[in-house]
Amino acid sequence: HDYKTSKSLPEQSKMDEDRQLALYQIGIQNMWNDVGSVELVWHYVAFDKEIRSKRTEEELDELKKDTIDLIEKIEATREFLPNESILCGWCYYKDICPLYKHEYMVGNLPVNKYLKDSGVKLVNEFAKLDDKKKSYKAKIEEIDEELEEIKEAVIQYAGNIGVKVVIGSDHKLKIASSEKINVPGKGTRERESLIELLSQLNRLEEVSVFDVAELKKAIKEEKWDSDILDEIKKYVEIETVKSVRLSKSKRED
Ligand code: SF4
Repeated sequence: HDYKTSKSLPEQSKMDEDRQLALYQIGIQNMWNDVGSVELVWHYVAFDKEIRSKRTEEELDELKKDTIDLIEKIEATREFLPNESILCGWCYYKDICPLYKHEYMVGNLPVNKYLKDSGVKLVNEFAKLDDKKKSYKAKIEEIDEELEEIKEAVIQYAGNIGVKVVIGSDHKLKIASSEKINVPGKGTRERESLIELLSQLNRLEEVSVFDVAELKKAIKEEKWDSDILDEIKKYVEIETVKSVRLSKSKRED
Protein backbone atom coordinates (compact mmCIF):
# COMPACT_ATOMS: atom_id res chain seq x y z
CA HIS A 1 0.00 0.00 0.00
CA ASP A 2 1.22 3.47 -0.82
CA TYR A 3 -0.50 6.61 0.43
CA LYS A 4 -0.34 9.51 -2.03
CA THR A 5 -1.01 13.18 -1.34
CA SER A 6 -0.86 14.18 -5.01
CA LYS A 7 -3.47 16.65 -6.24
CA SER A 8 -3.90 14.81 -9.53
CA LEU A 9 -5.12 11.30 -10.14
CA PRO A 10 -2.98 9.15 -12.49
CA GLU A 11 -4.47 6.88 -15.14
CA GLN A 12 -4.73 3.14 -14.46
CA SER A 13 -2.34 2.42 -17.37
CA LYS A 14 0.36 4.51 -15.66
CA MET A 15 -0.01 2.64 -12.37
CA ASP A 16 0.07 -0.71 -14.21
CA GLU A 17 3.61 0.24 -15.22
CA ASP A 18 4.67 1.80 -11.91
CA ARG A 19 7.98 0.38 -10.68
CA GLN A 20 8.04 1.16 -6.97
CA LEU A 21 5.36 -1.12 -5.50
CA ALA A 22 6.18 -3.87 -8.02
CA LEU A 23 9.77 -3.82 -6.72
CA TYR A 24 8.44 -4.16 -3.17
CA GLN A 25 6.47 -7.18 -4.37
CA ILE A 26 9.68 -8.75 -5.74
CA GLY A 27 11.37 -8.03 -2.39
CA ILE A 28 8.55 -9.58 -0.35
CA GLN A 29 8.41 -12.66 -2.57
CA ASN A 30 12.17 -13.09 -2.16
CA MET A 31 11.95 -12.80 1.63
CA TRP A 32 9.06 -15.18 2.18
CA ASN A 33 8.18 -18.20 0.07
CA ASP A 34 4.59 -18.50 1.28
CA VAL A 35 3.43 -15.20 -0.25
CA GLY A 36 0.07 -15.67 -1.93
CA SER A 37 -1.62 -13.35 -4.36
CA VAL A 38 -0.28 -9.78 -4.18
CA GLU A 39 -2.26 -6.68 -5.06
CA LEU A 40 -0.58 -3.29 -5.33
CA VAL A 41 -2.75 -0.51 -3.88
CA TRP A 42 -2.30 3.25 -4.04
CA HIS A 43 -4.49 5.40 -1.81
CA TYR A 44 -5.06 8.83 -3.31
CA VAL A 45 -6.19 10.49 -0.10
CA ALA A 46 -7.18 13.84 -1.64
CA PHE A 47 -9.68 11.95 -3.82
CA ASP A 48 -10.57 9.25 -1.29
CA LYS A 49 -9.80 6.78 -4.06
CA GLU A 50 -7.80 3.56 -4.36
CA ILE A 51 -6.03 2.44 -7.51
CA ARG A 52 -5.22 -1.26 -7.68
CA SER A 53 -2.90 -3.22 -9.94
CA LYS A 54 -1.53 -6.75 -10.22
CA ARG A 55 1.64 -8.04 -11.85
CA THR A 56 2.16 -11.35 -13.64
CA GLU A 57 5.33 -13.38 -13.00
CA GLU A 58 6.50 -12.45 -16.55
CA GLU A 59 6.05 -8.75 -15.81
CA LEU A 60 7.99 -9.09 -12.56
CA ASP A 61 10.80 -10.95 -14.37
CA GLU A 62 10.93 -8.22 -16.98
CA LEU A 63 11.01 -5.51 -14.28
CA LYS A 64 13.82 -7.38 -12.51
CA LYS A 65 15.82 -7.56 -15.73
CA ASP A 66 15.19 -3.88 -16.60
CA THR A 67 16.18 -2.84 -13.07
CA ILE A 68 19.41 -4.84 -13.19
CA ASP A 69 20.19 -3.30 -16.60
CA LEU A 70 19.55 0.14 -15.11
CA ILE A 71 21.78 -0.57 -12.10
CA GLU A 72 24.59 -1.72 -14.41
CA LYS A 73 24.14 1.40 -16.54
CA ILE A 74 24.31 3.63 -13.44
CA GLU A 75 27.39 1.80 -12.13
CA ALA A 76 29.13 2.21 -15.49
CA THR A 77 28.30 5.91 -15.67
CA ARG A 78 31.19 8.22 -14.86
CA GLU A 79 29.51 11.57 -15.46
CA PHE A 80 26.23 12.28 -13.65
CA LEU A 81 24.56 15.17 -15.38
CA PRO A 82 21.94 17.05 -13.33
CA ASN A 83 18.40 16.28 -14.33
CA GLU A 84 16.23 19.19 -13.17
CA SER A 85 12.68 18.26 -12.23
CA ILE A 86 10.00 18.90 -9.65
CA LEU A 87 11.89 16.46 -7.38
CA CYS A 88 14.73 18.99 -6.94
CA GLY A 89 12.57 20.59 -4.24
CA TRP A 90 13.14 17.52 -2.03
CA CYS A 91 16.77 16.90 -2.97
CA TYR A 92 19.46 16.63 -0.23
CA TYR A 93 22.36 17.11 -2.64
CA LYS A 94 21.70 20.67 -3.76
CA ASP A 95 24.91 21.93 -2.12
CA ILE A 96 26.96 19.79 -4.53
CA CYS A 97 24.58 19.84 -7.53
CA PRO A 98 25.92 22.00 -10.38
CA LEU A 99 22.46 23.57 -10.74
CA TYR A 100 22.27 24.83 -7.14
CA LYS A 101 25.85 24.87 -5.78
CA HIS A 102 26.49 28.55 -6.51
CA GLU A 103 23.19 29.52 -4.89
CA TYR A 104 24.33 27.61 -1.78
CA MET A 105 27.77 29.25 -1.89
CA VAL A 106 26.44 32.82 -1.94
CA GLY A 107 22.82 32.51 -0.81
CA ASN A 108 23.47 33.21 2.88
CA LEU A 109 26.17 35.86 2.47
CA PRO A 110 25.38 39.41 3.63
CA VAL A 111 24.46 41.71 0.73
CA ASN A 112 27.83 43.54 0.63
CA LYS A 113 29.75 40.24 0.27
CA TYR A 114 27.13 38.72 -2.01
CA LEU A 115 27.45 41.57 -4.48
CA LYS A 116 31.24 41.18 -4.57
CA ASP A 117 31.06 37.57 -5.72
CA SER A 118 32.39 37.36 -9.30
CA GLY A 119 29.53 35.10 -10.44
CA VAL A 120 26.88 37.41 -8.96
CA LYS A 121 28.57 40.40 -10.61
CA LEU A 122 28.66 38.68 -14.00
CA VAL A 123 24.99 37.63 -13.86
CA ASN A 124 23.91 41.13 -12.72
CA GLU A 125 25.85 42.70 -15.59
CA PHE A 126 24.35 40.21 -18.05
CA ALA A 127 20.82 40.93 -16.78
CA LYS A 128 21.42 44.70 -17.02
CA LEU A 129 22.62 44.46 -20.62
CA ASP A 130 19.81 42.05 -21.51
CA ASP A 131 17.30 44.61 -20.21
CA LYS A 132 19.01 47.34 -22.19
CA LYS A 133 18.89 45.19 -25.33
CA LYS A 134 15.17 44.56 -24.83
CA SER A 135 14.45 48.28 -24.46
CA TYR A 136 16.47 49.03 -27.65
CA LYS A 137 14.59 46.27 -29.45
CA ALA A 138 11.25 47.81 -28.46
CA LYS A 139 12.51 51.23 -29.59
CA ILE A 140 13.69 49.79 -32.93
CA GLU A 141 10.26 48.21 -33.50
CA GLU A 142 8.66 51.59 -32.76
CA ILE A 143 11.01 53.32 -35.23
CA ASP A 144 10.32 50.65 -37.87
CA GLU A 145 6.59 51.33 -37.55
CA GLU A 146 7.16 55.08 -37.96
CA LEU A 147 9.40 54.46 -40.99
CA GLU A 148 6.71 52.27 -42.54
CA GLU A 149 4.10 55.00 -42.05
CA ILE A 150 6.39 57.65 -43.61
CA LYS A 151 7.20 55.28 -46.49
CA GLU A 152 3.49 54.89 -47.25
CA ALA A 153 3.01 58.66 -47.07
CA VAL A 154 5.97 59.39 -49.40
CA ILE A 155 4.77 56.80 -51.95
CA GLN A 156 1.34 58.41 -51.85
CA TYR A 157 2.81 61.91 -52.12
CA ALA A 158 5.07 60.97 -55.06
CA GLY A 159 2.13 59.32 -56.84
CA ASN A 160 -0.04 62.38 -56.34
CA ILE A 161 2.47 64.76 -57.95
CA GLY A 162 3.80 62.21 -60.49
CA VAL A 163 7.46 61.98 -59.37
CA LYS A 164 9.86 59.13 -58.57
CA VAL A 165 12.22 61.15 -56.36
CA VAL A 166 11.20 63.27 -53.37
CA ILE A 167 13.81 65.51 -51.86
CA GLY A 168 14.41 66.62 -48.28
CA SER A 169 16.99 69.09 -46.83
CA ASP A 170 20.02 66.75 -46.93
CA HIS A 171 18.54 63.57 -48.33
CA LYS A 172 16.23 62.34 -51.03
CA LEU A 173 13.97 59.33 -51.34
CA LYS A 174 13.72 57.44 -54.63
CA ILE A 175 10.58 55.41 -55.17
CA ALA A 176 11.29 52.09 -56.85
CA SER A 177 8.83 49.38 -57.79
CA SER A 178 9.48 45.69 -58.31
CA GLU A 179 7.39 42.57 -58.66
CA LYS A 180 6.92 40.38 -55.63
CA ILE A 181 5.94 36.76 -56.16
CA ASN A 182 3.75 35.28 -53.43
CA VAL A 183 3.73 31.49 -53.13
CA PRO A 184 0.95 29.65 -51.20
CA GLY A 185 1.88 29.28 -47.53
CA LYS A 186 3.27 26.12 -45.87
CA GLY A 187 0.65 23.49 -45.07
CA THR A 188 -1.95 24.82 -47.54
CA ARG A 189 -3.61 22.64 -50.16
CA GLU A 190 -2.52 25.07 -52.89
CA ARG A 191 1.11 24.61 -51.81
CA GLU A 192 0.78 20.82 -51.98
CA SER A 193 -0.71 21.09 -55.49
CA LEU A 194 2.12 23.36 -56.58
CA ILE A 195 4.73 20.90 -55.25
CA GLU A 196 2.92 18.06 -57.04
CA LEU A 197 2.93 20.04 -60.28
CA LEU A 198 6.64 20.86 -60.00
CA SER A 199 7.33 17.21 -59.36
CA GLN A 200 5.33 16.11 -62.41
CA LEU A 201 7.22 18.65 -64.51
CA ASN A 202 10.57 17.35 -63.13
CA ARG A 203 11.39 20.82 -61.81
CA LEU A 204 11.08 20.20 -58.08
CA GLU A 205 14.76 19.40 -57.52
CA GLU A 206 15.81 22.68 -59.17
CA VAL A 207 13.86 24.73 -56.65
CA SER A 208 14.39 22.55 -53.57
CA VAL A 209 17.03 23.53 -51.07
CA PHE A 210 18.99 21.22 -48.80
CA ASP A 211 17.32 21.77 -45.39
CA VAL A 212 20.27 21.92 -42.98
CA ALA A 213 17.99 22.62 -39.99
CA GLU A 214 15.97 19.44 -40.67
CA LEU A 215 19.16 17.40 -41.04
CA LYS A 216 20.48 18.69 -37.69
CA LYS A 217 17.14 17.84 -36.09
CA ALA A 218 17.22 14.32 -37.52
CA ILE A 219 20.74 13.76 -36.12
CA LYS A 220 19.95 15.30 -32.73
CA GLU A 221 16.69 13.41 -32.26
CA GLU A 222 18.16 10.23 -33.79
CA LYS A 223 15.22 10.03 -36.20
CA TRP A 224 16.90 7.55 -38.55
CA ASP A 225 18.57 4.16 -38.05
CA SER A 226 21.99 4.26 -36.44
CA ASP A 227 23.76 2.90 -39.55
CA ILE A 228 22.31 5.78 -41.62
CA LEU A 229 23.24 8.32 -38.94
CA ASP A 230 26.76 6.88 -38.65
CA GLU A 231 27.30 7.35 -42.41
CA ILE A 232 26.02 10.94 -42.24
CA LYS A 233 28.10 11.73 -39.15
CA LYS A 234 31.27 11.14 -41.21
CA TYR A 235 30.48 14.43 -42.94
CA VAL A 236 29.39 16.57 -40.00
CA GLU A 237 31.24 17.87 -36.99
CA ILE A 238 29.56 17.63 -33.61
CA GLU A 239 30.84 20.08 -31.01
CA THR A 240 29.68 21.02 -27.53
CA VAL A 241 28.44 24.58 -27.48
CA LYS A 242 27.85 26.32 -24.18
CA SER A 243 25.10 28.88 -23.87
CA VAL A 244 23.45 30.82 -21.05
CA ARG A 245 19.76 31.41 -20.34
CA LEU A 246 18.66 34.22 -18.07
CA SER A 247 15.78 33.66 -15.64
CA LYS A 248 14.61 35.12 -12.34
CA SER A 249 16.20 33.92 -9.09
CA LYS A 250 14.63 34.25 -5.65
CA ARG A 251 16.97 36.48 -3.60
CA GLU A 252 15.17 39.76 -2.97
CA ASP A 253 17.55 42.01 -0.94
S1 SF4 B 1 18.93 19.29 -7.18
FE1 SF4 B 1 19.17 17.11 -6.83
S2 SF4 B 1 17.51 16.18 -8.07
FE2 SF4 B 1 17.79 18.27 -8.81
S3 SF4 B 1 19.24 18.06 -10.48
FE3 SF4 B 1 20.42 18.54 -8.65
S4 SF4 B 1 21.04 16.55 -7.86
FE4 SF4 B 1 19.37 16.18 -9.32
